[in-house]
Amino acid sequence: MSRLRAFTKSDSALAYAGGMTATIIDGAAIAAGIREALTRQVEDMIVRGLLPHLAVLLVGDDPASASYVRGKERAGQQTGIKVVIHRIEPGFDPGQTQRRVRDRIELLNADPDVHGIILQLPLPEGVDADALLDRIDPLKDVDGLHPANQGRIMQGRERFLPATPHGVQQLLVRSGADPGGKRVAIVGRSRLVGMPLAAMLAQKRQGANATVTLCHTNTPELAELTRQADILIAAAGRPQMVGADMVRPGATVIDVGINRVDDASRKRGYRLVGDVDLESVREVAGAITPVPGGVGPMTVAMLLNNVTRAARISQQR
Ligand code: NAD
Repeated sequence: MSRLRAFTKSDSALAYAGGMTATIIDGAAIAAGIREALTRQVEDMIVRGLLPHLAVLLVGDDPASASYVRGKERAGQQTGIKVVIHRIEPGFDPGQTQRRVRDRIELLNADPDVHGIILQLPLPEGVDADALLDRIDPLKDVDGLHPANQGRIMQGRERFLPATPHGVQQLLVRSGADPGGKRVAIVGRSRLVGMPLAAMLAQKRQGANATVTLCHTNTPELAELTRQADILIAAAGRPQMVGADMVRPGATVIDVGINRVDDASRKRGYRLVGDVDLESVREVAGAITPVPGGVGPMTVAMLLNNVTRAARISQQR
């Protein structure tokens, strides 16, 4: 077994030397650079008496949500941003939970010291997330999920770009794969990732200006479309669904997916994989993001960017 692994490694090293293996886009390093710049901005803001403050609403005890929230708290604090987690116990029925969260949102909307509000999803069964997201003050909606903010993206007049699509766009621009004039295929049309990303990359402006194809579960001949793309972005939430046969040689591949797959060899019993089969696709693509260490750290950095933006906006009110 170990001999096989050793062979595979040296084999791919040889392929790399021959220029056949994709460049790995180091999202962690690019995100660290952005966070560093944000840290300096926050220092300046604090000197001027403005402490950016993010409130995170965490309802119930979903372990994945709790871990994401801890990640945001840590990264925020490292950047000098104040992050307060508001833990809300679910009520005896969804209606009571709904009212508890709504009331907390209203309090945070009214608090001038709070600049950004995040409602961590998913919410417990039966709670209407849309109705609650609609309640968040659009000027504090740092996840960019309020209809007013999503509508502005369609018009190219964005206030807060959702962090993951913004992270993907920044990865492209900063790794030298500017989408301008390129054919981009996005797999996944969610409100959080695929849909806003399509609207962003289709805008007539720098860092965008692409011809975008938005693919989804009802797309016929998916591989035929993705194979035409200079830039392929996978955001479907399907472990390793994008194989080498779906990728145009030399394409840039951005893997948004974060999926848990069982792995008995790991202490925690699972490992994280993307929507792209990295091992096969890296032999075809020109550049590719890994999971973890690709889009994930960019998402956190762009969220913090939105919090500093929200703090600045609060001064113009
Ligand atoms: P979602 O389930 O809301 O949306 C998935 C989309 O993919 C849907 O529009 C669906 O039509 C499409 N889809 C699903 N299966 C498909 C298939 N076989 N063929 C074509 N289209 C298909 O998911 P989401 O919230 O957009 O997240 C997508 C993935 O990205 C998940 O793995 C999620 O964990 C991950 N994610 C990562 C980050 C990050 O920071 N890296 C942030 C958000 C989401």
